[in-house]
Amino acid sequence: MTHELILAWLRETDERRLEELWRQADTVRREHVGDEVHLRGLIEISNHCVRQCGYCGLRAGRRDLQRYRMTASKILACARRAVEFGYGTVVLQAGEDYRLTGPWVADVVRHIKAETPLAVTLSLGERADEELALWRVGGADRYLLRFETSNAELYRRIHPPRRPTDDTAGQDPPWHTRVKILRRLRELGYEIGSGVMIGIPGQTFDDLARDIELFRELDLDMIGVGPYIAHSETPLGRDPPASGGADQVPNTEAMTYKVVALARLVCPGANIPSTTALATLNLAAGRELGLSRGANVVMPNLTPVEYRALYEIYPAKACIRETADDCHRCLRGRILSIGRTVGSGRGDSRRRSAAGVK
Ligand code: SAM
Ligand code: SF4
Repeated sequence: MTHELILAWLRETDERRLEELWRQADTVRREHVGDEVHLRGLIEISNHCVRQCGYCGLRAGRRDLQRYRMTASKILACARRAVEFGYGTVVLQAGEDYRLTGPWVADVVRHIKAETPLAVTLSLGERADEELALWRVGGADRYLLRFETSNAELYRRIHPPRRPTDDTAGQDPPWHTRVKILRRLRELGYEIGSGVMIGIPGQTFDDLARDIELFRELDLDMIGVGPYIAHSETPLGRDPPASGGADQVPNTEAMTYKVVALARLVCPGANIPSTTALATLNLAAGRELGLSRGANVVMPNLTPVEYRALYEIYPAKACIRETADDCHRCLRGRILSIGRTVGSGRGDSRRRSAAGVK
């Protein structure tokens, strides 16, 4: 698929022609990853973060947010629930929190792997090479790290480096920390997942088309995309730059479906979730529409209810009051209601199984 064709689909507004994109994505999804929808149990293990991402409600500069960090035994209890519910994977996600030390995380992963048949996905930010290697040895199977945007200038504006000396401005290549880390994760033997936010202020259609081409270039195992949702307690939410006019990508539900569908077409074997951010825009049908337009994964939330509202990446997040049981029942029902089946097993990447990678 050429850059021009991706761009043309992103700019398409005719509902009838878009039906053709949905049809193509659904056909490719069925041929390459089948009708199973895999359930990944999400555990939001800490909302502490040292970073200052301009878009995110967990950023370090946010003083009004009560912070939490789950204990190892609470995380293990959530993993046991995942087994009871029949999930194949747990995803441990957090802000970039260095009190979740390398050895501590490795120990939690080892316990989950010893006690359960679950695959473990980590999403803990831009951690050091030694930590990523240690967690892999401990049994972690997959790592999620969205590169957020492939536009280096926009990325730098919304995602300041942790230390000024980490800024790679002017170096070409490597210019994008997160892409470098993704390549390293692949070398370490992780399945790698990445993605972008859709409609970040300053993101153009051309940028988004390049993002989708980068999914293909990185040959991702997992692709997570969702609309950017403004948070009034963040610099980008409070004070967005002047609109880029017709070139600015809108942060809409429709645009998100287009990116889900195009991601499926460029990476046919990838695992692609229908995300919570999509459900936040359309609670009644967003998840189902994502699944019908290329997605094959949903992420029921296992985080204990007392922490859910505190993992406030963006406001009005869907399902913050529901318990793990509620999420489980609701998502199973939604999968069955559209004639799909609930996945069994770990739902490993087809890309890697096809290549015989263990
Ligand atoms: N700290 C880790 C990281 O940054 O990769 C994992 C947690 S972070 C909250 C997970 C994802 O949330 C980010 O990759 C980003 O795409 C998404 N996110 C953050 N702020 C958002 C916003 N305002 N709207 C939509 N998605 C957002
Ligand atoms: Fe921290 Fe991740 Fe939010 Fe950035 S996106 S502030 S690294 S939690």
